[in-house]
Amino acid sequence: MTAEERPLRVGDRVELRKPHACGGNAWTVARVGADIRVQCERCGRSVLLPRGRLERAVRRRLEPTAPGDGS
Ligand SMILES: [Zn+2]
Repeated sequence: MTAEERPLRVGDRVELRKPHACGGNAWTVARVGADIRVQCERCGRSVLLPRGRLERAVRRRLEPTAPGDGS
């Protein structure tokens, strides 16, 4: 099983095929269940999507942000 195939978990970062309205396309998983909540890293807004729909929308997984990186 590769990293691309494992289920999404809270804290995972993903890039979606369709950019958010703000222009950002990097999202952080904020809640996992039947529906998955993802938060836009650029503007901070979050959206709730059915799991299957989100998984189809993911272009690729992003590397976790290193602790203390960029701040
Ligand atoms: Zn946004």
